[in-house]
Amino acid sequence: MPHGQCRLCDVESSLQLSHVLPAFVIRWLRESSGTGHIRTGTSPNRRVQDGPKRYWLCALCESLLGRSEDQFAKGLFYPYIKGESSQFVYGEWLLHFCVSISWRVLQRYKEGAALKDYEPDAAARIAEAERTWKAFLVGQLPHPGPFQQHLIPFDGIEAVSNQSEILSPNINRYLMRTMDTDIVRSRTTNFVYAKLGRFVILGFIHEDRPSRWSGAKVHVRTGRIEPRRYTMPKEFFSYVNSKARREAELISGLSPRQAEKIGEAYRENINAFIGSDAFIAMKNDRRMFGEAAFILRGPAKEEL
Ligand SMILES: [Zn+2]
Repeated sequence: MPHGQCRLCDVESSLQLSHVLPAFVIRWLRESSGTGHIRTGTSPNRRVQDGPKRYWLCALCESLLGRSEDQFAKGLFYPYIKGESSQFVYGEWLLHFCVSISWRVLQRYKEGAALKDYEPDAAARIAEAERTWKAFLVGQLPHPGPFQQHLIPFDGIEAVSNQSEILSPNINRYLMRTMDTDIVRSRTTNFVYAKLGRFVILGFIHEDRPSRWSGAKVHVRTGRIEPRRYTMPKEFFSYVNSKARREAELISGLSPRQAEKIGEAYRENINAFIGSDAFIAMKNDRRMFGEAAFILRGPAKEEL
């Protein structure tokens, strides 16, 4: 185990190999795929076992993040997918969990070149958001201030009222079952985007007009996740749709050998696939798009 400075508490310690995105989401994707395997858009030719991991945290911080992660899994993620209720009351753990995801995704993008072209004031805001999230996670701040977290629960969709938007034919599969991350930036906004199955978490770094977003803000102490009107800029749905399209394009870049392997996996597991969550997502796309849902050589993300 390597020795180094923990990214969260700054203490020199032996560092744990921890998941950037929660392992339970990857486990769920695998178990509900009908074939026992998942692939990602970024490397469609490879089955994903476990998701990315990094030596970032000491054992104490690892267990600190693990606690709210566990509460999210048991208190919201699984009950929501199972449809156990239409209303979920959350505690302080939800904000802690959302901040931990935004912080982890930001760490990951900092390692790459994604943030290199930020002008000094935009870079300063990123640094400020990071400092604030870190201080909140270790209990030095009572809330993340302007660097809010929003949580949007998604389900399959049957139709859209805005016909000007041409939906990607895998939109249900994307909304219901993808794991995805990004840093979104425009002239007026900048946020961390993390999609964990049915849930999208947005960690705001900057927003000129916060009133464009309502209904999804995660509160400090408690709140409810329930069917309600979520208001967000229409560009956001276009963005999500473009993410679905990108995913479909990447998956259709599968090699013939991998496409054949996928076909085999489904033939072998057909009984497990029928009735699985992946099957339901597929059926929703089929209902909306008919045969066009199958123009992708393999269904997005999942193996079919
Ligand atoms: Zn630590």
